[in-house]
Amino acid sequence: MNKNKPNILKITNLFATVDDIAILNGINLEINQGEIHVLMGPNGSGKSTLSKVVAGHPAYKITNGEIIFKKKNLLELEPEERSNFGLFLAFQYPLEITGVTNEEFLRAAYNSKQKYLNLPEVDPIEFFEIITKKLIDIKIDISFLSRNVNEGFSGGEKKRNEILQLALLDSDLAILDEIDSGLDIDALKLISQTINNIISKNTNKSLLIVTHYQRLLDYIRPTFIHVMDKGKIIKTGNWKLANELEKKGYDWLKK
Ligand code: ADP
Ligand code: MG
Repeated sequence: MNKNKPNILKITNLFATVDDIAILNGINLEINQGEIHVLMGPNGSGKSTLSKVVAGHPAYKITNGEIIFKKKNLLELEPEERSNFGLFLAFQYPLEITGVTNEEFLRAAYNSKQKYLNLPEVDPIEFFEIITKKLIDIKIDISFLSRNVNEGFSGGEKKRNEILQLALLDSDLAILDEIDSGLDIDALKLISQTINNIISKNTNKSLLIVTHYQRLLDYIRPTFIHVMDKGKIIKTGNWKLANELEKKGYDWLKK
């Protein structure tokens, strides 16, 4: 791996279970600042589980191993602290929140991070200015703000909303779980462009992108591609590995 860039995430020999069923079986993964890592692999191989374990989802029990994020033991931090400390997770299935508008939700998330960083919280008027700039960048209609969080959003709108949160929160590491699924080609291009902008403007930002589709990699050039199977990373390669996977599938990698 690139020795010149500081490490941001280091996962060592990570094992995790859900309801006593082993799902992650010894994950090792190192991500440095400015790198884009892509995680691929068959359905049920544990990609979403890994994402959720890193984010601190309470359903999963860590039975072995460690996760170091920005030199801190991530497993000792509550999910909210992880987020405030610079970790972002876009869920494969974003949650709907009834009774809370997107604007309220986003401002609460923004202010929570400001507070954590000992920075001033912003009032609704100040926030409106911040968020409308982001909306324009991501070509999201302003009416999004007054709608309840993800309620009645199409699949693509939910994904765009996740990217809006990412752009707003300015996280150091973003884990994007199937951010490309259910997107039409224009939305895919737009989201890829936003992701590329985030990376090119801030060369110290890192990404872990979970995807099934080669087509996302037509727009985003990863530093590394990892293939997961049965809770382990069974292959790591550069962006060219995606072409090989597209042609040959995953079977040739499985033992
Ligand atoms: P992927 O995202 O690679 O498709 P997942 O991480 O969603 O895979 O799932 C990995 C395996 O763990 C699957 O067999 C899935 O059924 C199982 N699993 C994940 N979460 C749970 C859960 N909360 N309860 C029971 N089984 C789970
Ligand atoms: Mg998944």
